[in-house]
Amino acid sequence: MRISCVRTYRLACPLGEPFGFSQWRYASRHALLVRVSADGGAEGWGECYGPAAVNQAAIMSFYAPRILGLDALQTDVVWHHMWRASLDFARRGVMMAAISGLDMALWDLKGKALGVPVSELMGGRHRDRVPCYATGMYYKDRPETQLLPELVQEAAGCRERGFRALKIKLGKNLAFDADLIRAVRKALLDATLMADANHAYDVPEATVIGKLLAHEGFAWFEEPLSPEHPQLYRQLHDAVSVPLATGECEQTRFGFQSLLSAGGVDVAQPDLAYCGGPSEALKIRAIASSLGVNVVPHAWGTMLNLAAAAHFLASDYRQPGRAEPAPGMLELDQTENPLRDEIFRTPLKFENAACIVPTGPGLGVEVDLIAMKNFCEKEEEGAA
Ligand code: MG
Repeated sequence: MRISCVRTYRLACPLGEPFGFSQWRYASRHALLVRVSADGGAEGWGECYGPAAVNQAAIMSFYAPRILGLDALQTDVVWHHMWRASLDFARRGVMMAAISGLDMALWDLKGKALGVPVSELMGGRHRDRVPCYATGMYYKDRPETQLLPELVQEAAGCRERGFRALKIKLGKNLAFDADLIRAVRKALLDATLMADANHAYDVPEATVIGKLLAHEGFAWFEEPLSPEHPQLYRQLHDAVSVPLATGECEQTRFGFQSLLSAGGVDVAQPDLAYCGGPSEALKIRAIASSLGVNVVPHAWGTMLNLAAAAHFLASDYRQPGRAEPAPGMLELDQTENPLRDEIFRTPLKFENAACIVPTGPGLGVEVDLIAMKNFCEKEEEGAA
């Protein structure tokens, strides 16, 4: 079953209202979808995280010509073929995101060709449902006195919709952050709460905020520090008792080996559309497992990446293991995204804030070509 065609679709959509986090703000959504076809008609879909136009160029000009004609079912062989071809200049970064999207499409294709869901290809399902947590509470262009109660109200709305766990944004400024942490906890006494700073703090700042998060019973403190300094994570870990999470900016088994072996990370968060794809995420999970760390994927984008993360979590054996384990949670972004909500004729299904892991072949979500093309800025094709 040879790879016969690679197509990419660069999607864009303006947002009704821009939203921001500690680093910058979004006024539009973008995505790069990847469609790989093989001889005989089997095909699969994937998605790349990061700048869609750059991912598209990396796939169409570099990787696609190199994988046309390879056996589509040999996912690990194809992965290493791409990796070796670009290792000298692409060990990390956007080209690894391009590999990720192609790899995800090949896992979808393999599942469809063999008639099994991706979670079975990943080793089997420990669970048929994966609990979700709500990601949201992004900043809007408002005075802080107005923004804070709005964010608390948004968090309460997530709880009312059935989410038992949700994640707020931090890293605006220390005074606002502290007020927000206290206000959300006061409004949601029974919720599992997490907080994400998107690497906005230095160690002294993160220590102050981390102690407050521990006091307020938060479940994890995400990206308190720059991903460039794993040794500082260890320093922070020694100073605060709240669990530390990071990894959405990291890639490959080699990157996670460096990040996790410093000993300061409790939850590893590779993104399957960026870390190297499902093939590499499984290797990252093995590295994390060997160090006693659990993996909860970062998920941001369309239903393709969400489905990949859901299959990954369904097949995840939680360390250290017990009869009644608390499974990893699927990150469910609550902000406006037509590229997630309007382009799938078969989307993921949710019930009581849990994702029902698809049982159909492949990823189990299907793109609606006509709806998708309404958002398509540029389609490209490379064929053998
Ligand atoms: Mg994050």
